[in-house]
Formats: sequence, C-alpha cells, structure tokens
Amino acid sequence: MSPSGAELLRQIKNRIEQVDPSVVREQMSNGAVIVDVRETEEFAAGYIPGAKHVPRGYLESRIEGVVPDRSQHLVLYCASGNRSAYAARTLIEDLGYERVESMVGGITLWKDRGYPVEVPRTLTAEQRERYSRHLLLGEVGLEGQRKLLDARVLLLGAGGLGSPNALYLAAAGVGTLGIVDSDEVDLSNLQRQVIHNSERIGTAKVDSAEQAIMALNPDVKVEKHAVRLGADNIIEILPQYDIVVDGLDNFPTRYLLNDASVRLRIPVVSAAILGFEGQLSVFKPYEGPCYRCLFPVPPPAELAPSCGANGVLGVLPGTMGLLQATEVIKLILGEGEPLIGRLLMYDALAARVTEVRVRRDPNCPVCSREPSEIEDDELGVFPDYEAFCAGAH
Ligand SMILES: [Zn+2]
Repeated sequence: MSPSGAELLRQIKNRIEQVDPSVVREQMSNGAVIVDVRETEEFAAGYIPGAKHVPRGYLESRIEGVVPDRSQHLVLYCASGNRSAYAARTLIEDLGYERVESMVGGITLWKDRGYPVEVPRTLTAEQRERYSRHLLLGEVGLEGQRKLLDARVLLLGAGGLGSPNALYLAAAGVGTLGIVDSDEVDLSNLQRQVIHNSERIGTAKVDSAEQAIMALNPDVKVEKHAVRLGADNIIEILPQYDIVVDGLDNFPTRYLLNDASVRLRIPVVSAAILGFEGQLSVFKPYEGPCYRCLFPVPPPAELAPSCGANGVLGVLPGTMGLLQATEVIKLILGEGEPLIGRLLMYDALAARVTEVRVRRDPNCPVCSREPSEIEDDELGVFPDYEAFCAGAH
C-alpha cells in the first residue's frame, strides 16, 4: 500500500539531512550555496540574502544552470521546510548531488529568529502588466526590466534616428532618457521624425519629444538639454549617462563625441544615414575600435552629409534607429552579442545587409592611449568646419 502524504514526508525527512537556521548561517560563511525553492511571488516578498532562486517546479530543468558542480554543498529552504525536503530528495536521488540539506522550519523560522531577509524591489501591478511581454523572456525577466528602469540613456538629437530610439526605449521602460537638441520642430522634419507631429511645429524638439514620451510611458523621466553639443558642455553632460545614442548629423561633433566618450569610457551606439543607405556600430571604449580607428580622417567634404540638406528616405532612420535601440537594450541587459568591432551596412534599395569586421588601430590618436592622457584641448580636433564644407563647392 502506498504511504499517505504525511507518511511519505516523514520518510523523506528521515532520509535527508535537515539543518537548523543557526547552522545554515555558519554554513553560508563556509561557502554553502543557499537555494530558495519557493514560487516566484513568495521569493519576491523576501528571501535570505545571497540565496539563489530555483522554484521547485523547475528544479530538474534549472538547477544545473545555477549550480553545475554536483559536489557543491547546497542548503535548500522553502516557507516551512516541507517542499525543501522533497526538493533535497530529488537532487540527491535523481540528479546525483552529493551534499544537499534542507533547512528546518523554512524562512518562517529564519525570520522568527530575527535573521536578515532581503526584499527585492518589485514592480507595481501596472508595471507588471505594461512589461508583461518582457517578463516572459528569460533574457529580460524581472531582473532585466529593473535594469532597464534603472538605466540612463542619452540621445544626441531628437530627429530621424532619435525619434524611433526615444519612442521604443521609452516603451521598453528605459527609466531615464536624456535628450540633447537645440532645434525646433519644422514641417520638413515630419517625413521621418515621428516623435513630433503637425501640431507641434515650432515647438522645441526636446519639449515635443518629452510630450510624446510622457503620453507613451509615465515611468520614463526625460532630461532635456536644449543646447548644441559642444566642447563647452560635453564633459559635463556625458558622465550623467550609461550609454550614448549617436544620431548626430555632422562630423566635427561626431569626432568630439568619440574623443570624449573614450576618455569617459562611455559606450556609444552610433548610426548614420544618407540617401538609401545606413551604417551602424557600437563603440565601446577599449573593448573595440573607436570612431577614429575606423575613420581616421573625415570623408571628402562633397560626401559629408552635414554640409547641406541631403535627401533621405523617410523610413530609413526608422530602420537604423530601431537597430540602434536594440543594441542599447542589449548593452543594458548584458545579453546577446553587441555590435562591437563590427560595422553593419544596410542598403535599402538592394534590401541587403553587409557586415564588416573592424579593428582597433594600435596607432589611433585617441584610444591607443590611457583615458587620463587625453587632454581637454585634444577633444574633437577636426579641420576648421566652415573651411571643410567650403571645400565641397
Ligand atoms: Zn581608436
């Protein structure tokens, strides 16, 4: 005859090692790994500091990812000590873990003893709903969504590239978006700068962008910098952010941004568009090449898009901007393979994407040196711009 549930539990508890919370505290300082086998909602209400979380329902499928070494000393706990006893039995008898114990009385007794409990910052009910499709992804989840909410991203420009970046990063819950732009919304912008609209023509772009972001996601804080990025303000603005999105339309500022971001060790996700073609790369200082490694000298003035109005297909900044936003989110999450040391080129007419490897230049005037060696007056060294553009005529 099969034993009753209570009898089975008694038998299992006799077969495994059970330890008192006071002993667990000592074991923790001796290198034991503590595993919380409760459900996600229970874990979210508070857990033993340093505990790994593997819900009992996922024990068999997830424990190897969390603790690959089967000789590792494990102490399991749940709310009262029953589920952890079953889980310990599974780890020993079915999965071959050698030293697994179950904590008597679970976290309830642990708390009664006055031992420390950590309560993770949780999402509000509204946030859980808003980000539910992120929470379902293993690569994002609660942890990743908190990283996004804590992240500070600077958008250089609220134009063609800045628009899709701002909208989608805001929708994704990137908590702080800084926007640098000194322009006002113009009718000719609206063919591609979709964060603005016809009613806001004449409004400062930073204000217009803020309105659109607030309407989309009130979780996001917008920090407006209604200035032109220049040598006089870049060293003050950049360090306030974790990642910079480069949607700049002129070469001198791009070189200035490069030099400052290398010195400050801030990654830049950079895109450029012209006509029907776009380029994209991630410049992470000292891990991959910098902009000057790729383009030691600016292109001939007649090819420089910033020397006058140039045509651009309206959807192209949308495509390139969303590839940028994707790289930003990957960097924040620490997931995937960022586009570091690779240059992606998109030809919209051919519908063709090409990727080229790019390397650090050991003689690069900027990133071959230590950040502290890069002086203020070296930032953004570039041929005189008026003269540079005059060369185009
Ligand atoms: Zn370089």
